[in-house]
Amino acid sequence: MQYDVTVIGSGPGGYVAAIRCAQLGLKVAIIERYPVLGGTCLNVGCIPSKALLDSSEHFYNAAHNFSTHGIDLKDLKVNLPQMIRRKNEVVQENNKGVEFLMKKNKIDVLYGHGSFLTKNRLKITGKSGEIREIETQRVIIATGSKPIVPANFNYDKHRVITSTEALHIEKVPGTMVVVGGGVIGLELGSVYARLGTKVHVVEFLDRIIAGMDSDCSRELMKSLKSLGMEFHLRYGVTEVKPSKSKVKVTAQSRDDESKTLSWETDYCLVSIGRKPFTDNLGLENAGITLDEKGRIPVNDHLETAVPGIYAIGDVVRGAMLAHKAEEEGVFVAETILGQKPHIHYNLIPAVVYTWPEVASVGYTEEQLKEAGTPYKSGKFPFRALGRARASMDLDGMVKVLADKETDEILGVHIVGARAADMIAEAVALMEFRASAEDAARMSHAHPTYTEAFKEACLAATGNRALHV
Ligand code: FAD
Repeated sequence: MQYDVTVIGSGPGGYVAAIRCAQLGLKVAIIERYPVLGGTCLNVGCIPSKALLDSSEHFYNAAHNFSTHGIDLKDLKVNLPQMIRRKNEVVQENNKGVEFLMKKNKIDVLYGHGSFLTKNRLKITGKSGEIREIETQRVIIATGSKPIVPANFNYDKHRVITSTEALHIEKVPGTMVVVGGGVIGLELGSVYARLGTKVHVVEFLDRIIAGMDSDCSRELMKSLKSLGMEFHLRYGVTEVKPSKSKVKVTAQSRDDESKTLSWETDYCLVSIGRKPFTDNLGLENAGITLDEKGRIPVNDHLETAVPGIYAIGDVVRGAMLAHKAEEEGVFVAETILGQKPHIHYNLIPAVVYTWPEVASVGYTEEQLKEAGTPYKSGKFPFRALGRARASMDLDGMVKVLADKETDEILGVHIVGARAADMIAEAVALMEFRASAEDAARMSHAHPTYTEAFKEACLAATGNRALHV
């Protein structure tokens, strides 16, 4: 069979690229090594984690906040197997949705492991070893990423787990040690903390969510502490020893080697990052070599060193985010057709779906300081909002960073209820290079959380916030 474009990998990068190529009239195939479509994001990432975050948040609110709202519940308990079942159903519905989109766009789905025989010839090895070969004019590699687990952490998928296994624990653990205070560890750690697990987070650096603005790290840590999570910053895990029913985790202080911490815990969740996945892809047969971080090097058009072979998503440089992968999927499809698409990488928002949520776009205050960019800043606390008081979601703040001279918004950092949705306004304004004054003059519905953004813009432009 001869295709115009073949996409390897059906995650948000791959399936979106396939759809856009098909929309533009190309004959497209997509290869997926698992029997379901949707990749990490849909099967073991964004969607199932958010399903569990939502369920556990309902439980937490029922247990801790409902009575204040005048709702009394008796005999409240967690049915974790049902929570997991619902999560699985959400995933399956989404799997079917992607399958439907492939059919609708007349994209051939080829299940099996894809690999290069030459730059234009691909082999697909099915589950029971059967082999198919196809010819293709172009290839889009979208093979994603896998969790990083150091060999000495004894990853047994039973007591020593990654996010993948943490999505189907069937009994609420008594204790859990989370290695790594990044997005994935904090999201999944907070799922179990809300259900009653004692969660310890061990973080090598000085702060959690270290890539985000330090005010966000501070605010989020405060909120997660009140959820009962404990944080051990500047500690490195040195030993992870699983047995049948427990795991022993030892950590050492980076400041004083004689200071160690150790836990006998139900689970050790390793969430120290992810690495690009290119195993058995036969890249050498196509003439592609990886960079020092195992990524596929690409140019500004997301084309590899081999003309006609593109790579997108987690397997290339940049943030490992589903919406970044999707943008790149559309970008490559349109580039192939000779269009001139554009991605503004600095305006790809980052979100942590804890409660409160954290959402961020543009430069952090630390980045502006380091670059020597003159800036001004305005902050507004959620607790000064009528909407936050009504909902009892008082934690958090909005911080707006704007150019000192031109007033252009350079960064927006939000910790608070619905931050994930609120950040879209900042992205839109920043795409149009709005000033903080522009945003401060826009009417924001009352009472909404978005008023905090307007107020932070007022604060950034001459300390004019109205409600503090
Ligand atoms: P992937 O989604 O990893 O898909 C790659 C696909 O390629 C897989 O299906 C794989 O089986 C297939 N494949 C690999 N090699 C081959 C081969 N040789 N042949 C055939 N098929 C192959 N991002 C967000 O933006 N928001 C979130 O809320 C979020 N939450 C997350 C939560 C967790 C727990 C995790 C782990 C990740 C989360 N992410 C989130 C990150 C997000 O999942 C990834 O950034 C995104 O899935 C990357 O998309 P991709 O298309 O590059 O690759």
